[in-house]
Amino acid sequence: MARIVMKFGGTSVGDVERIKNVAQRVKKAVQEGNEVAVVVSAMSGSTNQLVEWCRQVAPLHDPKEYDTVVSTGEQVTIGLLAIALQDIGVPARSWTGWQVPVHTDGTHGKARIEQIDTQEMQGRMATGEVAVVAGFQGLGPDNRISTLGRGGSDTSAVALAAALGADRCDIYTDVEGVYTTDPRIVAKARKLDKITYEEMLELASVGAKVLQTRSVEVAMKHHVRVQVLSSFVDAPGTLVCDEEEIVEQELVSGIAYSRDEAKVTLVRVPDRPGIAAAIFGPLAEAAINVDMIVQNVSEDGKSTDLTFTVGKADLDRARKVLEDAKSHLSYERLACDSNVVKVSVIGVGMRSHAGIAQKMFQTLATEGINIQIITTSEIKISVLIEEKYAELALRALHTAYGLDG
Ligand code: ADP
Ligand code: ASP
Ligand code: MG
Repeated sequence: MARIVMKFGGTSVGDVERIKNVAQRVKKAVQEGNEVAVVVSAMSGSTNQLVEWCRQVAPLHDPKEYDTVVSTGEQVTIGLLAIALQDIGVPARSWTGWQVPVHTDGTHGKARIEQIDTQEMQGRMATGEVAVVAGFQGLGPDNRISTLGRGGSDTSAVALAAALGADRCDIYTDVEGVYTTDPRIVAKARKLDKITYEEMLELASVGAKVLQTRSVEVAMKHHVRVQVLSSFVDAPGTLVCDEEEIVEQELVSGIAYSRDEAKVTLVRVPDRPGIAAAIFGPLAEAAINVDMIVQNVSEDGKSTDLTFTVGKADLDRARKVLEDAKSHLSYERLACDSNVVKVSVIGVGMRSHAGIAQKMFQTLATEGINIQIITTSEIKISVLIEEKYAELALRALHTAYGLDG
């Protein structure tokens, strides 16, 4: 007997038939003698709709009320799945985030899970009752509903698996596993049998939304065995595991892209000590994550241009923060561009092999794609390019690195 957490994403619970299909999968796991907790997302599209309604009422809205609204999608699916399970003879009950409770910090809209109290749940699971838990949501220190950022149900599932000491966490989604790149964009993408936590973390953090980044961090920290697999096809998925478990390591394991980037340029900021702190401090206070940063060498020793990227959803707030601070930042002009995409190549092989970055630059040059920003880490190279070239860049790089299946 094992204790398992099964997570089903938005497409997998996208309508009533699919919820019934999920119930059958859960029933099978229960009949095999497992203790099961299920984490579900909202029906596909419903969170987007809820986010859009908040934006329509007021573009800059209270994040606590945003969480109240966007967390509702998961409350629908936990109830429906519990009903579907009961209907086929499987004892089940639904749990919202606050009922568990899943305690988070107070960063509404992108809260972090701090602790999950599973005592009551464990007692009920021991009697054979399936726990159907709402992903994406928790309870903030202010006793208000919080949410974990888009795609956060993955993190709910992995954190619950860690808290329950589960034997594994199976993430059921609408593709058959983790691929060398998004299989919906590159038809030649290959499914990986295994991927290291580290590479998965990088892939997720640069946009491969198959797993939320934070879920991989939690899995890595608590050694949760995570498997990504299809909820529609019975086929082996991808295991996320330690490096030692992977026999043959590829130089480049994956390529990802993120359209969720917006470029901000401060033209002619004074080139003096403390200016970067003065710019990025207020952004951090507003909980705006800054990603790529480039600062030009100052030609006249007096001023310089500073360019960085933020998430598209944060652009309006970032602009406001910087405009409010204009008097003491004394830049000349603020330019924003959301017509960009970040493309990244990931591989632990980069640590020991030269020429991987050069291949990226050469491939993009051959396609006539201009690179606006470059950043690198030990196992990753990212470039910011014009959005219209996203698919072309992905396909060309996938071929250039020999990843085509
Ligand atoms: P869910 O609703 O199940 O959480 P998501 O839409 O969040 O599903 O994530 C699955 C999607 O991630 C796939 O449909 C695919 O388009 C996308 N994706 C991006 N990069 C990858 C990758 N490297 N491997 C697999 N899927 C990827
Ligand atoms: N429903 C949430 C979202 O769409 C959480 C998730 O699906 O993981 O972002
Ligand atoms: Mg997801």
